[in-house]
Amino acid sequence: MEKASMSSDTASGQTPGEPQVVAPQDALYGETYFAATAVEMPKRPPLTQDIDVDICVIGGGLAGLTTAYEMARRGWSVAVLESRRVAWNASGRNTGFVLPGFGQSVDKIVERVGPDHARELWTLSQGGVDYVRQTIAESEMQGIAPSEGWLHVSKTDRARQVSDDADLLRSLGADIEVWPERLVRSKLKSDRYFQAIHFPTAFNIHPLNYAAGLAKLAEDAGVRIFEETRALSIDPAGVRKRIETANGRVRAARIVLAGNVHLGELMPEIAQTLMPVHTFVIVTKPLGATLSEAIDYPGSVSDTDWADSHYRIVGGDRLMWCGRMTVWDAHPRRFGRKLRRDLRNRFPQLADAEIDYAWAGTLGLSVHRMPQIGELSSGVWLASGFGGHGINTTAMAGNLITRAMTEGDDRWRLFQPFELVWAGGRAGRIVLQTAYWGQRKYETWASGRSHGSEVRRIRADARAKKEAAAAAERLQAETDAAETARIAAGQIGTHTDQQVVYAEDMATAGVDQADDSRFARRLRKWRDRT
Ligand SMILES: Cc1cc2nc3c(=O)[nH]c(=O)nc-3n(C[C@H](O)[C@H](O)[C@H](O)COP(=O)(O)OP(=O)(O)OC[C@H]3O[C@@H](n4cnc5c(N)ncnc54)[C@H](O)[C@@H]3O)c2cc1C
Repeated sequence: MEKASMSSDTASGQTPGEPQVVAPQDALYGETYFAATAVEMPKRPPLTQDIDVDICVIGGGLAGLTTAYEMARRGWSVAVLESRRVAWNASGRNTGFVLPGFGQSVDKIVERVGPDHARELWTLSQGGVDYVRQTIAESEMQGIAPSEGWLHVSKTDRARQVSDDADLLRSLGADIEVWPERLVRSKLKSDRYFQAIHFPTAFNIHPLNYAAGLAKLAEDAGVRIFEETRALSIDPAGVRKRIETANGRVRAARIVLAGNVHLGELMPEIAQTLMPVHTFVIVTKPLGATLSEAIDYPGSVSDTDWADSHYRIVGGDRLMWCGRMTVWDAHPRRFGRKLRRDLRNRFPQLADAEIDYAWAGTLGLSVHRMPQIGELSSGVWLASGFGGHGINTTAMAGNLITRAMTEGDDRWRLFQPFELVWAGGRAGRIVLQTAYWGQRKYETWASGRSHGSEVRRIRADARAKKEAAAAAERLQAETDAAETARIAAGQIGTHTDQQVVYAEDMATAGVDQADDSRFARRLRKWRDRT
């Protein structure tokens, strides 16, 4: 896919980086920075009659909207049923990093499916990134506030490991750079950081405005979106499938399930293959010049593979920080305080940063941390399980499913090794939460150890320098003493300019005429002679 450049908000006369607040938003979107800076999002009426379409998409998040738009562009009639509002949850509340790859790490993917298969998956994931970039550029989408790049930083000193990771990524076709510690610390002024992998083709967007833009594109292409319309039951049998809602029925040739963790009662057996994970985001008040004392990088940063510490600058001089997770619902303000501690730990310079926004979002994690894409039964498709890596992968899934339905493209089968696996119910959640806490503890310990050994190294260097200076001083003193002794022993007069000067110094410094010591007598004798 060809790369296209994105229109910047600056070009449309807005404050650099900060989209303008246009619409008073539905409280459903939460107290998010993105809701507060969203473009206008029209409220769509619910379904109140029976309709007949080619495709019924269940779920108005990024996965559902992309599929709907792509199908409609190809001339199919499409209806989207959204139980609440378009992109009200993960799709509108995420941090907007558009990255290649998946929730699962590449070494685990290679281990599972082999290098050739993994390369094809990576290419698809990069295609998702390119699709988002191109769609925004071609439609001149508003309020996107794009910024370029993603840095994946190590909190431990492991140059060798980072270089090995980079080799593996390159073998899959990734466009990346390895940044040494010096470069990392010139951009992120934190002594917690060491080496990093830089992804220059990744970029960052205002997610809610992207979802709003996608919904508008879909409607312009003929899609009908019904908000406040929950799909209550599905009859998937036969050529015309039926979807029941409270006030109308949809008959469709194909169904796409794009409901993420919210599918619940509609398809309990599918819903149970996902673990709902709540994760948290804060955005600081404007920080002015203080921010540049800490961060001089315009893109996004992650310093772990898990939920913690993903951040980037938004609105010119605010810092958005995402992290922590629970498998139980929790109040975002409580977690906001914890996130602030994480922020301070990385950047003590920002200790006084105050929080303007704090919110939570729920993502759906599969056991293998890979998306669930495929045909469940004839004409019933699933696009789900995008985890915390959903902007590129929802775009990829929408395109794969569309191409499968319209062109018989079967690349979606590349995801077949990642089957639907029961997520373990309550026990699975407890296991995940415990694993997260364990990982967090481990990372804190490893980072502390790396930081500690760096501090010890710096101290040892300083000590060594001090000792070397003291040794040089001692040597000088010994040399001086030897010279003095030679003068005192009468070996002067034969003698170098340096010795003469030295003797004169001695004379001026301390030996007066009354001094009758052997040394003083010899010195006077020498002076008389010269
Ligand atoms: C805090 C946070 C930060 C994140 N940061 C990033 C990031 O920086 N980069 C990245 O790539 N990913 C990120 N993600 C992940 C990404 O946001 C998600 O993977 C992605 O948005 C999932 O999209 P979706 O369409 O599958 O699901 P959703 O956005 O959850 O949409 C599903 C929709 O389906 C509807 N629905 C469900 N059941 C029914 C039904 N029966 N009838 C009608 N409608 C129904 C729901 O109401 C919902 O609106 C983040 C997620 C969170 C929570």
